[in-house]
Amino acid sequence: MSQPSTGIDCAHCPAACCRLEVWCLTETGVPEAFMRADPRGGTVMARLDDGWCIALDRQTLLCRIYEQRPLVCRELRVGSPECLAEHREFTESIPWHHNSSRFPRPRTPCCG
Ligand code: SF4
Ligand code: SF4
Repeated sequence: MSQPSTGIDCAHCPAACCRLEVWCLTETGVPEAFMRADPRGGTVMARLDDGWCIALDRQTLLCRIYEQRPLVCRELRVGSPECLAEHREFTESIPWHHNSSRFPRPRTPCCG
């Protein structure tokens, strides 16, 4: 998925939005092992020490539970304020990602 007006393209993004906090607000079939209780109440997707969601395949940068992903993930759109903010912050803070051999991603991006 791409957003020509912004130049942002999921296929060339290091799944930046999969580092955001993701609340599991509805039942979509996310495996229990991928969720954790949040101290403020409710349930969120667990993240590993590298900052990415536990469900992200680290090699392909694709969502391993795409069909069961939380509503929040389904609703986030490329080019949205959340996308642009996270993309900018992440790619600027870790510039080596621009040259990583992991990009471009050849298949369907993680987001909807
Ligand atoms: S929606 Fe997510 S993967 Fe796509 S460009 Fe934005 S931050 Fe990157
Ligand atoms: S799209 Fe998948 S990998 Fe990305 S935050 Fe959502 S559940 Fe995690």
